Amino acid sequence: MQSESQLTESAYRTSNGQNGDRLAAIHHEIEYLNTIGKRFVAAFDRFQVHHALLAALQELYSFSACCILLKGDPFELSIIPSYPLSPSFLEAMIQRIASAASVIDFPHIDAEQLAKTAYLDAPDELAFPRPGHATSGPEIGSCLNIPLTVENRIIGMLSLFDEKQGTFDTHLLQMTTMIADYAAVALENVRLRERENALWRQAELERQRLKLIIRSMAEGLLITDAKGTIVSLNQSAQQLLAQAQTDFSAGIPLYQLMETSSVPWLPRLTEIVNQALAGKTVTNQEIVVGFSGETVPLTLSISAAPLLDSSGVRPKPIGVVAVLNDVTSVKQVERLKDEFVSVVSHELRTPLTAIKGYTQHLVRRIERRLRKIRNAQPEAEVPVAELPESYDLRSLNIIQSQTEHLERLVSDLLDLSQVQAGHLDLSYEDFYLADLLAESVRSVQASAEQHTIELDLQVPDTKIRADRVRLGQVIGNILDNAIKYSPQGGQVIVRLQEQKGYYTVSVIDQGIGVSPEHFDHIFERFYRIHNTASHQYAGIGLGLFVAKAIVDGHGGHIWFTNNQGVGSTFHFTIPIRPRTTRPLSL
Ligand code: ADP
Repeated sequence: MQSESQLTESAYRTSNGQNGDRLAAIHHEIEYLNTIGKRFVAAFDRFQVHHALLAALQELYSFSACCILLKGDPFELSIIPSYPLSPSFLEAMIQRIASAASVIDFPHIDAEQLAKTAYLDAPDELAFPRPGHATSGPEIGSCLNIPLTVENRIIGMLSLFDEKQGTFDTHLLQMTTMIADYAAVALENVRLRERENALWRQAELERQRLKLIIRSMAEGLLITDAKGTIVSLNQSAQQLLAQAQTDFSAGIPLYQLMETSSVPWLPRLTEIVNQALAGKTVTNQEIVVGFSGETVPLTLSISAAPLLDSSGVRPKPIGVVAVLNDVTSVKQVERLKDEFVSVVSHELRTPLTAIKGYTQHLVRRIERRLRKIRNAQPEAEVPVAELPESYDLRSLNIIQSQTEHLERLVSDLLDLSQVQAGHLDLSYEDFYLADLLAESVRSVQASAEQHTIELDLQVPDTKIRADRVRLGQVIGNILDNAIKYSPQGGQVIVRLQEQKGYYTVSVIDQGIGVSPEHFDHIFERFYRIHNTASHQYAGIGLGLFVAKAIVDGHGGHIWFTNNQGVGSTFHFTIPIRPRTTRPLSL
């Protein structure tokens, strides 16, 4: 079977013998280009391109050397000799290349600099002149420079040199340019491949480094895909979750695993991962993963964030990265602290009750004695106030008020341990909230001379079912604070409103207020703000914590706002009818 080109060729030959020869020449040319094209395509690195180029050109001419100058920073010059060349010939070639390049749209090239970085791509026996070969060597007889272009962009220059004159036949110029084009594309491909390889190596290096960091992290790292399936756990995470007794590597999403697994903390972990998959960053969520029988079970603090794919119009979560921290030792310290506080406050209560009782007894006795003295000698020389008994009474009053202060502190500490242990029971009874507010206002007003406390009742009927003593404590704590944190005095308003089955109590003061950075923490235990060098406010940071526990226990809500002018307003709501009578726990 004849190929299409062969058929055309034979048809042509029969019609015209001369043209037939031309066709044979063209055919030979195509075959030649095809062969060298294949060699260039097969060239894997720049040296193979050089050798393919040399071989292709040597079929056209016999010459001394071919050189390739590539643009870049710095320029790269490769010299490919056909036989050993003298240093002077090499130097002359570089000089010629530098000046030819300036003609073909190249920035200025320093020939000396180029000579230093030029690369002689030759087998060893060709690299240096043979022994006995004159070092001055022959002069350059002919030279040909062709720009190397890829998609109309000049990427370099091909230069051919020979000792003899007239080596580079202008008839072969078109063919030489075609070969140069092949070489240019092959060199550009090599360059792109090298760049790609370098980037890949860099990425691989980064990947290895990241892997090492993740593996050696003390924190556990857990990564899921978009379905919530755990796809990666570092060593620390594996150790922390060793008690899970469930196979996370099964490729099952957490929500499915949760249905079949009996691991009690899995639903919580799933919830955290789902929140992060919904785009939310979750921080410091505690999960107890140890056995509940242990004194302090293994407790993890988990923070999770979505892994976002930002390639689309809107970033889309493609997974979750969660950091796990073992906080068991912190829990252990907290537990010891709580136990200590509970024991100490219990122990303090007994002597305090005794001190209070005996002080009261002494106060009454001295008061009785002073009454007797006053009745027996109404016109005495020494005023009653200056009698030794009066001094004693004043001292006892101080002891009494300090004991009461101490008693309040101890009672706050006891409340704290009860709230922590979930034992703060509420005793519900029916009463009028207005009465309780009036009572609290009266009691606080008695010791707040610089302040006026106004009761603003905006509700006609204030009947409520709640724990009267505990609510009194909430109002007392907030009112005490309103007085304490307005040291310049001023007005305090206690307002009662009703809305949708709730009473809202607001205590508005004109004091020092609270700056925004404390907003999220003010109801935390032992959280205190206003202790500066210039003013020390008494307190231990438990009043609001306990108040919140009591309000929460009633199914209400407590919060505060900064006033427009000065001071702050603390609000709390209490349902008019209780929904539950369950014991309090945080
Ligand atoms: P403390 O025993 O310190 O008063 P609390 O729990 O009652 O503890 O209050 C916590 C912190 O909140 C206080 O230390 C104080 O800085 C701030 N605070 C409470 N009430 C007010 C208020 N009415 N005005 C300004 N700051 C307040």
